[in-house]
Amino acid sequence: MRPARALIDLKALRHNYQLAREVTGAKALAVIKADAYGHGAVPVAQALETEADGFAVACIEEALELRAAGIRAPVLLLEGFFDADELPLIIEHDLWCVVHSLWQLEAIEQAMLSKPLTIWLKLDSGMHRVGLHPKDYHEAYQRLLASAKVAKIVLMSHFARADELDCVRTDEQVAVFEAARQGLSAEVSLRNSPSVMGWPKVSSDWVRPGIMLYGATPFGEEQAVASRLQPVMTLESKVICVRELPSGEPVGYGAKFITPKPMRIGVVAMGYADGYPRHAPTARRCWWPGNAASCWGACPWTCCAST
Ligand SMILES: *Cc1c(COP(=O)(O)O)cnc(C)c1O
Repeated sequence: MRPARALIDLKALRHNYQLAREVTGAKALAVIKADAYGHGAVPVAQALETEADGFAVACIEEALELRAAGIRAPVLLLEGFFDADELPLIIEHDLWCVVHSLWQLEAIEQAMLSKPLTIWLKLDSGMHRVGLHPKDYHEAYQRLLASAKVAKIVLMSHFARADELDCVRTDEQVAVFEAARQGLSAEVSLRNSPSVMGWPKVSSDWVRPGIMLYGATPFGEEQAVASRLQPVMTLESKVICVRELPSGEPVGYGAKFITPKPMRIGVVAMGYADGYPRHAPTARRCWWPGNAASCWGACPWTCCAST
């Protein structure tokens, strides 16, 4: 049987979710898009359901998968709908919906809806992917209210560079957001993982932690909150072959590794079909029972040289 396995530690997941809440004091939507970053959206949602304030996914297919599995907590569609014909499903399954573009606003105005929507109105505060232009923000808010098709509006934006702790861009985005929402009284949601972890002064009624839930840090350097995360996924496999090589022998594609001394080489059954990154750098550390081993990838099999 294929020996590669990804083990998911749901206790660590709950710890990381609680950490996001603890350091912000805010309500937290657990971001479980892309199959919970590869960890399995349904089991992750089930593990968090009793404590999570809600979940966020990228598209309606992901949301419907959660509903089909019996998840009743709020679920936010981070891109809203891709087509207006999703609106009846959004109502039927009681989903929350981002509006990031004027065409979505127009579609809501024109739709016949059996119940009012919960809308997260997204401002482009400087990331320049999706989100309304600041000059359109107030008007969009007023039009949603006037449409009588909306029960609640949350004001949101997304940071482009919060993982760079010394970058002024995050403060600039906050300033753009604060200016655009002047005079609108509604809850606010700004913070993704790096801003939850590294930007304590940014106020946000709702936070949207993603990568940190899984125990991965968005920072390239050490960081106080990052040091409290617990890894959720462990990849493990079998050593399927062991060989002794003299000094100066290449191993694997492209001779990217050359034995610096006589070495015992173990080959682990783990490759990119198992999710191991094709472009993983050479000389990665991997955990070895009772021993530290250096490990490198970028070949169908991952090779470990015990040191
Ligand atoms: C993916 C996503 C998040 C989560 O981002 P992380 O950096 O993984 O925490 C938050 N908000 C939006 C809008 C997203 O698309």
